[in-house]
Amino acid sequence: MVLTFSNARAEVLRRVALAHPSTESVPLESAAGRVLAETIHADRDYPPFPRATRDGFAVRAADVPNELEVIGEVRAGSEFGGRVGVGQCVSIMTGAPVPEGADSVVMVEYTRESGAARVTIERGISPGENIVPRGTESAAGSPVLHAGSRIGFPEIAMLASVGRADVTVHRRPKVAIVPTGDEIVELDRTPSSCQIRNSNSYSLRAQVARAGGEPWALPIAPDEIGRLREIIEQGLTADLLLLSGGVSMGKFDLVEQVLTGLGAEIFFDGVEIQPGRPLVFGRCRNAWFLGLPGNPLSTMVCFELFARPAIARLSGAEPQEAVFPRARLRAPVRVKAGLTRFLPATLTSEGVELVGWHGSGDVAALVRANCFIVVPPDTPEMNVGEWIGVLPLDR
Ligand code: AMP
Ligand code: MG
Repeated sequence: MVLTFSNARAEVLRRVALAHPSTESVPLESAAGRVLAETIHADRDYPPFPRATRDGFAVRAADVPNELEVIGEVRAGSEFGGRVGVGQCVSIMTGAPVPEGADSVVMVEYTRESGAARVTIERGISPGENIVPRGTESAAGSPVLHAGSRIGFPEIAMLASVGRADVTVHRRPKVAIVPTGDEIVELDRTPSSCQIRNSNSYSLRAQVARAGGEPWALPIAPDEIGRLREIIEQGLTADLLLLSGGVSMGKFDLVEQVLTGLGAEIFFDGVEIQPGRPLVFGRCRNAWFLGLPGNPLSTMVCFELFARPAIARLSGAEPQEAVFPRARLRAPVRVKAGLTRFLPATLTSEGVELVGWHGSGDVAALVRANCFIVVPPDTPEMNVGEWIGVLPLDR
């Protein structure tokens, strides 16, 4: 069955939705990229006190502009015990708790000393200015991070703020990688004139790790049923098996046949996209599998579009919609209608344009690109200045 891009993606997300990965505790230092398995609550109010956001003087807004009596000083990490009364103020530093009685902080730039313990406040101010009230960022006990969210650097800062040195995350799914093809050789061999070095295993390993999976590279499978089956059976012990090559219509494209022979259920075996039309998604034994077309750009694009969301689901992450931010075209695009196309392009502040490329084997073109433009199936002609979706290349 051949599906459109959006139907194929929805099918992957729908099918892999039932994953309930087990959990483990990890130290915060190694939590980046993992998926939270617990909801995190604020252990106290944030900020825990009304926090000054400027260096200056804590005043009562009703008293200024005017000359005030300076009754003390408060710096970050300390507290002013007293209360600011009428005509009084306290010298205050950024990050310090605003003393009782004061309702605003005047920046030091708008003040001048006018005698011992006296300061002239030159401007008026509104109550609340330059103060973050206690508990306004997060109230004690309120949820600050939800289970299922991926931990990036903002989440790390939040976890550290609430004192979590260890955190419960989902285990990383194990992702087997099987390159196929009689012409493919490993890097420690000198390829003959008709052989190709195995690049897909290496790009896939990097992509799997980036997506939060644990890559497991298996040996190159030849285009021969017996050995291919052996290696595929090994790969099916992982959570997800990624194969590259052997899914087209050629006489020696045997992946689908071998998987069917092993009792696989196949949900689709083609997607209306370029690159990557032959793409097989299914389940066999206890593993999901994706048979990716072998051309390096097809392998890489199909990974981003289908394997990445599958790995996210297997990691316990909430499903992510495919979002393609838009940029203006700097040069026209002409393609045939019917397929959603992902074409290597460069995005700058001026807009986006295609890089010259020689088809989906052209790794050099992708190295020059920093995104793909996403040409919808029903708009074969797009002109300069039109808005087009881009899939950024996540290096
Ligand atoms: P296939 O999908 O098997 O028809 O392969 C399509 C193209 O991708 C062929 O030109 C292959 O040589 C190439 N290819 C397949 N597997 C790999 C690999 N692991 N590394 C680099 N190129 C590959
Ligand atoms: Mg092949």
